[in-house]
Amino acid sequence: MLTPFDDNYFMKKALEEAQLAYEKAEVPVGAVITHQNTIIARSHNLTEQLTDVTAHAEMQAITSAANFIGGKYLKDCTLYVTLEPCQMCAGALYWSQISRLVFAAEDEKRGYRNMGTKLHPKTKVKLGVLAEEASSLLKRFFIEKRNLN
Ligand SMILES: [Zn+2]
Repeated sequence: MLTPFDDNYFMKKALEEAQLAYEKAEVPVGAVITHQNTIIARSHNLTEQLTDVTAHAEMQAITSAANFIGGKYLKDCTLYVTLEPCQMCAGALYWSQISRLVFAAEDEKRGYRNMGTKLHPKTKVKLGVLAEEASSLLKRFFIEKRNLN
């Protein structure tokens, strides 16, 4: 059955955020956090603009979702992110006790799984949603970056 607010729908919203990062010459990673099928936080990578290595999309989304909820735990929330989280973001997700993580492209080198970082036992994971779209945007970004240098 088709529902309008499924994982593909929200991952598309995260991809729109990734596109915004791309347009700012940031590594194109975008994220949204949902609660009861409503987007409560959206963000994209801003490490260059903020000259801050912690300004990953997920970190900003976690902070803004917690502000929205008015509590630090992201119970009944889902994070949609276009690239597998790194160990820093996975660590922050651990502390947030988020209910669900959905990511698109896998990051074999710097993803949290390869780094051996564990999420919270309460966190369910789904991967590969719109992975093709997410990784082609990342590939395009890195090819263009290489050609500029
Ligand atoms: Zn990260």
